[in-house]
Amino acid sequence: MTDDTQHIRLVLPGPVEVRRDILDAQTRWMVGHRTADFSDLFARVEGKLRQAFLTAHPVIVSTSSGTGLWEGASRNGIRDDRRALHLVNGAFSERWARVSQANGKQVEVVEVPWGQAITAQQVAEALRRGHYDAVCVVHNETSTGVINPIREIAEAVRQHDETLFMVDCVSSFLGAELRVDDWGIDVALTSSQKAFALPPGLSFAAISPRVLDRARQIPHRGYYFDFLELVEWVGKNNTPSTPAISLIYAADRQLDDVLAEGLDNRWARHLRLREMAHAWAAQHGFGLFAQEGYRSPTVTAVANSRGMDTQALAAFMLGRGFAIDTGYGPLKGQTFRIAHMGDMSETMLQEVLDGLSIFVAGD
Ligand SMILES: *Cc1c(COP(=O)(O)O)cnc(C)c1O
Repeated sequence: MTDDTQHIRLVLPGPVEVRRDILDAQTRWMVGHRTADFSDLFARVEGKLRQAFLTAHPVIVSTSSGTGLWEGASRNGIRDDRRALHLVNGAFSERWARVSQANGKQVEVVEVPWGQAITAQQVAEALRRGHYDAVCVVHNETSTGVINPIREIAEAVRQHDETLFMVDCVSSFLGAELRVDDWGIDVALTSSQKAFALPPGLSFAAISPRVLDRARQIPHRGYYFDFLELVEWVGKNNTPSTPAISLIYAADRQLDDVLAEGLDNRWARHLRLREMAHAWAAQHGFGLFAQEGYRSPTVTAVANSRGMDTQALAAFMLGRGFAIDTGYGPLKGQTFRIAHMGDMSETMLQEVLDGLSIFVAGD
């Protein structure tokens, strides 16, 4: 399946479809990572990452998937004798809470049923009742298609000086409005293979100075994901250990295209894609799994109210050249997700929806 005409286009909520130009960017010759060539590349990429995160603070580049930076955020942001408040409303936020626990952190949760959003009021109340080193939240719950009101939640967290605000924006970065500095986010972390539309293998995080102050108070931060070390190396336009250089070539190219499109335009495109997906669902008598008002601009979880065979749907779509999701874990069959993140165009989404319409008509 190396032939471009036969390749299966990914409509999955990660990894997402990666454009040919981006794949090609990875084929440049290797350079040593302790050379001026690499430092120039890193400086260029990190500068563009700051523009993309809307931050003046350093952005670390980690050769790991996003899960690695979850671990880093938990280890560097939460002291062992204090607590973290995890906001849980889906599979990924649940898993990040487990990552904190696995690192020996004391975790409390504010939890709402899958499909619902966490509100700022819930967070404000929890913070009135207890002291927390950090509030950890997933901006966009990829499992349920819910986007949490991060900006309002940030306001609630910012009332508490001791509390860091750590946000997973893996499936929202560059797909939904996100203003790291303006909103007062201390850690904003993302993976390469979701809304960023790169191949898997890298993750990125904007790190505020408050996080570094906290990390200095934690003796055992681990080694590979030590934020103090990673940030110190950003100052040298480099990484502590050998990075995935080919993927950084791809990021360099992708960030040029992202900034040329413009963040506002990119966010607006995703809102139009969301409208298309919602209109399709309504037109065919399907509900939406996510609570109204909090529906994700990057992934729509369609409630399978017609009891369709989603495996048959996926097989049908594969025949038309698209890989499509059949619902996350426990939601399999009950929902299917139409991912519309990354570089997805309206034309491509229309092709996907046309295919789905044909399947539904014959079902
Ligand atoms: C996929 C996903 C993750 C996990 O990221 P990996 O890069 O697979 O480690 C974390 N958070 C969210 C919201 C995700 O969608």
